[in-house]
Amino acid sequence: MKNKRIIDEAEDIHRAVEMVQLGARMQMLEAETRLSREKLLKIYKEVRGVSPPKGMLPFSTDWFMTWQPNVHSSLFMSYYRFFEQCTGLVGLDAIIKSFHLYLDQIESGVLEPVLSLTRAWTLVRFFDADLLQLSTCTSCGGQFVAHAYEPNAHFVCGLCNMPSRAGKSVKAKQAPVKKTRVRELVTV
Ligand SMILES: [Zn+2]
Repeated sequence: MKNKRIIDEAEDIHRAVEMVQLGARMQMLEAETRLSREKLLKIYKEVRGVSPPKGMLPFSTDWFMTWQPNVHSSLFMSYYRFFEQCTGLVGLDAIIKSFHLYLDQIESGVLEPVLSLTRAWTLVRFFDADLLQLSTCTSCGGQFVAHAYEPNAHFVCGLCNMPSRAGKSVKAKQAPVKKTRVRELVTV
């Protein structure tokens, strides 16, 4: 029994280190491991070299509805659903695997990073709580993050109906969203 607990703790430490490396905040670490706050703070400081930021997570479902975060969240959710439906992975394991795939897209230069691991984790929690759903775009057939229970018979995604301001920021000028490539990714 004692040995089992040590193995459990080793697994939790391993997961916590991976989560911190991927940018997780304390709230996520506390929810996803059984380690004490003190131990998590130690791990955080050791991996990052600084103390974790204080305060609440400022996330609401509305953030995921704004144009650029919505494109990124939809891409992340398409990976998450794939892992859930095709590999049987659930929860944190599926979140971490999906986030790695998302980071691969960032590294290959298709997108600028918008989603952090903690945001991705919050997104899945909003899905679990039935606050968000995936709606199918009537124009391109891709699946996009939308508020749950909203009528979606005429739903058109942010890529098919791009707001005129999108792509005009300095950052977007440097790396415009490659619309066709993103559409391929959310349609799989
Ligand atoms: Zn569309």
